[in-house]
Amino acid sequence: MSEVPIFVGRSHQAQHREAFTLDYACRACGLAAEVALLATGFANAPSRDDALEGAAISSARNARGAVPLLRCPRCGRRDDRAVLRFALVSALQLALGAAPFSALAVLAFHERLGEVGWIFLATGLIASLAIYLRVVHPRWFRVDRRARFYLPDEEGG
Ligand SMILES: [Zn+2]
Repeated sequence: MSEVPIFVGRSHQAQHREAFTLDYACRACGLAAEVALLATGFANAPSRDDALEGAAISSARNARGAVPLLRCPRCGRRDDRAVLRFALVSALQLALGAAPFSALAVLAFHERLGEVGWIFLATGLIASLAIYLRVVHPRWFRVDRRARFYLPDEEGG
């Protein structure tokens, strides 16, 4: 577990990292197991305590959200519906992050302010990238490496 509060302007930014033990159930083969999953959460709040609490809540939510995305240690499959839902939510988050800047870029191009338009477009891309790196990538790409399964019938061979 680690907590890293950083004071940014008038708000505190906190990061919380913790290993959670959760129940895993595979839809494909019916395996039920416990899994220890390392999850990170971020939060911003005006007070340091609220930021730390928010980051802890966020890490727990990320851990619960990641469990259905894990590859089953027995049959090697993932829950297609959970993966699809995750992909849709991620795409929506990226689109919403870039939307205000895209709108400004369209406006700037319409007003023949080309350079300003490109700046807004670039800012939108950076916003999307930031969301991707902070929200999407950590939850998805290393999800299996952050997990350790405790199988009920774990034996050698
Ligand atoms: Zn399975």
